[in-house]
Amino acid sequence: MRQSQLFTKTLREAPKDEVSLNAQLLIRAGFVDKLMAGVYTYLPLGLRVLKKIQNIIREEIDAVGGQEVLMPALSPKENWEITGRWDGLDVLFKLAGTGDKEYALGASHEEVVTPLVQRFVKSYKDLPVAVYQIQNKFRNEPRAKSGLLRGREFNMKDLYSFHRDEADMDAYYETVSAAYSKIFQRCGLDAKIVEATGGTFSKFSHEFQVFTEHGEDDVYVCNKCGKNQNKELVTDLKCPYCGVEREIKKAIEVGNIFKLKTKYSAPFGFKYSAEDSGEKDVFMGCYGIGPSRVMGAIVEVGHDSGGIIWPESVAPFEIHLISLAKDEADIKLADEIYGKLIKSGKEVLYDDRAGVSAGAKFADSDLIGIPYRYVVSHKTLEQNSVEVKKRRAEEIDLVKI
Ligand code: ATP
Ligand code: MG
Repeated sequence: MRQSQLFTKTLREAPKDEVSLNAQLLIRAGFVDKLMAGVYTYLPLGLRVLKKIQNIIREEIDAVGGQEVLMPALSPKENWEITGRWDGLDVLFKLAGTGDKEYALGASHEEVVTPLVQRFVKSYKDLPVAVYQIQNKFRNEPRAKSGLLRGREFNMKDLYSFHRDEADMDAYYETVSAAYSKIFQRCGLDAKIVEATGGTFSKFSHEFQVFTEHGEDDVYVCNKCGKNQNKELVTDLKCPYCGVEREIKKAIEVGNIFKLKTKYSAPFGFKYSAEDSGEKDVFMGCYGIGPSRVMGAIVEVGHDSGGIIWPESVAPFEIHLISLAKDEADIKLADEIYGKLIKSGKEVLYDDRAGVSAGAKFADSDLIGIPYRYVVSHKTLEQNSVEVKKRRAEEIDLVKI
């Protein structure tokens, strides 16, 4: 893409009311725009990153048998009354329709997916099933000061699995846990598994946490046995597994997996006809990742004083081609290099802007954070070369075209 055509521009300063580092950098670099607290527009550069994160997740969830659907964001009050969450979920956005109709905006989709799968699954032969979607969720979060880390409208991949019995649910839970580790690794994040409260039905749920000073969660870290626990659930600094004193670290929860067991299938009366005889309860698991929070977390852990440093797997482009060409012959050569890169299948942002200084182009390039910077100028073209620099590196290589 030609940068001269990009309708967004980099900004020298972030909005004054934006206190989080991820949003400051993402707004200044032109990835997102803030509409109001906790609600952002994804601009062309930002949408490319979000889609790459979503596609990594999609590939790994497809690989563990997830079937993708797209459920509505709007859902009827009745379903939320069945599970007790119309009054029980404090962050639920509620809407009044015409007449006496009331609706909720999806904060999570158990109330939609459970009766959905129930319509198709009748017998043991229909199980197990795993269904997921990638969609925006709405939560009336009291604090929305952390940029993409805590949105009131935010993107989520939510997977729900349905099983004949607890053992099958347990086995699939481990499969998804392993898939999550792969996903975060592919996104360039070092996410650690943390034990967290399991609600009323399970001893634990498991969170995937990225340690960083700007995280909202406190995690007890045991340096001896390597087990981690969210502070929300424990008060004892001593590790329950090996007894040593633990340290507390700030972290960002990028994923969460839950054994729901029959918590949602029971209120909807979702049973199946068993192989031996009679009706049995369906066991469920649910598994969430926030792609928009993942994007914020990547920026929190990957930046320097100049701007963002994207991992190659989710960068908006592979190459930032910067043209310092001034005369017509050089501009033609730079255009040809751009054409060749595109033809060879590279994703290139081409800074072809006229009248912008080299210094300003380099500063923008650092801010945007594309992994490879290629510079063409009269000097390099004379040598039939481009200057290649990695975003993280200091050294510059002169490479023959
Ligand atoms: P938190 O404890 O941070 O409020 P949660 O435990 O309520 O999150 P889940 O309901 O398990 O989150 O949601 C699954 C995933 O969705 C989370 O792991 C996180 O990646 C993402 N997520 C949750 N809430 C938000 C939010 N307000 N903004 C952005 N992403 C979110
Ligand atoms: Mg949580």
